[in-house]
Amino acid sequence: MDRLLHVNTISKSFGGVQAVNNVEFHVHAGEIVALIGPNGAGKSTVLNMVSGVFPPSSGEIRFDNRFMSTVRGHQYAAAGISRTFQNLQVFDDMTVLENVMVGFHSRTRSGLFGCGLGSGRSRREEKFMREQSYRLLKQVGIAELAEKTAGNLPYGKLRLLEIARAMAVEPKLLLLDEPAAGLNHTETAELSLLFKRIQAAGTAILLVEHDMDMVMNVADRIVVLDQGEKIAEGIPEEIQQNPKVIAAYLGQ
Ligand code: ADP
Ligand code: MG
Repeated sequence: MDRLLHVNTISKSFGGVQAVNNVEFHVHAGEIVALIGPNGAGKSTVLNMVSGVFPPSSGEIRFDNRFMSTVRGHQYAAAGISRTFQNLQVFDDMTVLENVMVGFHSRTRSGLFGCGLGSGRSRREEKFMREQSYRLLKQVGIAELAEKTAGNLPYGKLRLLEIARAMAVEPKLLLLDEPAAGLNHTETAELSLLFKRIQAAGTAILLVEHDMDMVMNVADRIVVLDQGEKIAEGIPEEIQQNPKVIAAYLGQ
């Protein structure tokens, strides 16, 4: 299998805090890898480096045969990496459909704010974006809410909206930071099914998640961090029984 993402001994410190220390792992094309660990383990910091929010203090990240240190933050979507954040990032006053259309901004020439100017190409682009956005809403299961104001949606639906928007760039790798946080059991189960569908369509997922049922259910492989260091890696069955992993969670 292709190594889509190769995280090669990356570190990050914030002042005196060593948030991530020589962490190494990889994600194959089309694979679901879960990144787990107790609070403060460095999971979000790893996701921030992989998505180009900030560079590693040392080490390197290779994605799709490119060294990502040469790629600027705004070019990550075009390179094939897309993400959602631990806190919701939804435009409350826009409709659900418009919120997904924002996701196309980075991939079309005129983007959302360039459409509606009346040129033939802009109209074509807008039509394309609307159709694709609707298709993405269908994929995540909230197409019936397309014309609703996003601010009026329940929390679980907003989580799905964010995933639809992240998928607008047709990423090769989707990064998700605690997508099941605040969701009930049924919503979490539905989200797991969505991840399987996204995977079946060819997109790899790097999933940071606290819900262990979900992680064990959807992950092909699991990477475990504790206090900035990788303490284990393996398939779900191995990780569940790993004494180091159990100790890290008990010590929380
Ligand atoms: P996790 O997502 O696993 O809970 P984080 O990656 O958010 O952990 O944080 C890892 C460590 O780095 C924590 O000690 C946290 O306080 C620290 N940290 C994270 N981001 C920053 C930042 N921007 N400035 C200072 N310290 C930070
Ligand atoms: Mg976090």
